[in-house]
Amino acid sequence: MCKKACLSLLPFFIYLLLPATAIAEKDNIKSEKHITYVSGGEVDVYFEFQASPQTKQKLLKWLKVSSETVTTLYGQFPVKLVEVHLYDLPTANEPVPWGEVWKNGKYRVNFQVNANFPLASFISDWTASHEFSHLIHPYTGTGSAWFGEGLATYLQNTLRVRQGSLNEMDMWRKLLDGFRRGEHQAQQNRLTLFQASKNMRSTGNYQHVYWGGAAYFLAVDIRLREITKGRESLDTAWHKFQQCCLSENNSWSVETLISKLDQLTETSVFSEEYKNNLFSKNFPDYYNSFKQLGIKVSSNALTLEANNGSMSQLRRQIIK
Ligand SMILES: [Zn+2]
Repeated sequence: MCKKACLSLLPFFIYLLLPATAIAEKDNIKSEKHITYVSGGEVDVYFEFQASPQTKQKLLKWLKVSSETVTTLYGQFPVKLVEVHLYDLPTANEPVPWGEVWKNGKYRVNFQVNANFPLASFISDWTASHEFSHLIHPYTGTGSAWFGEGLATYLQNTLRVRQGSLNEMDMWRKLLDGFRRGEHQAQQNRLTLFQASKNMRSTGNYQHVYWGGAAYFLAVDIRLREITKGRESLDTAWHKFQQCCLSENNSWSVETLISKLDQLTETSVFSEEYKNNLFSKNFPDYYNSFKQLGIKVSSNALTLEANNGSMSQLRRQIIK
């Protein structure tokens, strides 16, 4: 269950609806900026609570690892500058109970943290990798959460393996478990992914939308790599998009964005998978994706088939 308000690029007026505890500047705390550099970008961290030097060091290390995780997509951080604001929630039963991204003229990510958790708990938490992955794509409007949430949900897993904070087997297990939760919700709500995404917040179809979107991006990643013999992938598509088109001020419709990604990869994979997956009441066929990667799924077990050529090679490319 996604516990986070994983909101991406909201129009400014929506910010006012966010929980006051998350965004209120405490009168007696003067936020202090700490600058961290990652390949191609700067992360300015603001502690919006009183923290000891040791706590600051721990949280800065976590944010360094999480921002570096996102550079494993195409070798650099997607944006030149992002502000990160940290708010304390010492009653939380996990290290990072909440996160969100703003893109209104500048990039900003807010996290609530329980700083009492050790560094290892922060490093193994997926929230920061998820939120930073939202910096890769532009805002696509309300009602199309499947796209941004699906991308971030896919990348929060694959990129953490590339970075080294998650092992490969655990990643496939997390993807399988997520796809199953999404499929279960889709069977209950009997909606297409497109429909579930339209009214996600009012109906609570988060599993269907997040994991249906992630299954779309897994299918796209596999097909791009296959039909271009490894020349194109999600990595190259988003890198090209960053170079030509990424901006904190632009909003794209999903359809226009998908056409652009097709054009940049000189394929029609993004639009074909869109037509195949968004308007069917069947959850995207992740079993087929796993099969193409040589991953055998039975009721409770998941086995990676031995290195037998192209399937294992595809697997390795995804987590290289
Ligand atoms: Zn999100």
